[in-house]
Amino acid sequence: MNEHKKVLLAGDEEINLVFCESCQIAELTIGGVSVRLTEKSLHQVHTALHEGLMKLSVLKATAVSDEFDYDSLNLH
Ligand SMILES: [Zn+2]
Repeated sequence: MNEHKKVLLAGDEEINLVFCESCQIAELTIGGVSVRLTEKSLHQVHTALHEGLMKLSVLKATAVSDEFDYDSLNLH
């Protein structure tokens, strides 16, 4: 049986995640690039993205506070 039974899990034309029920393989597409992933790899990508985004938020928050003019608060 060579039939692929693909289900769109998320996303749009540019970025999406498709799962093939026949192959049990997820396909992550970003722009023109497609990456085939097992469900386990998909979780690892998710974990990496999640962790990366959290750290990025912290980095940005820190950058803001560095530039923040504390004197403007007038807390004397
Ligand atoms: Zn397939």
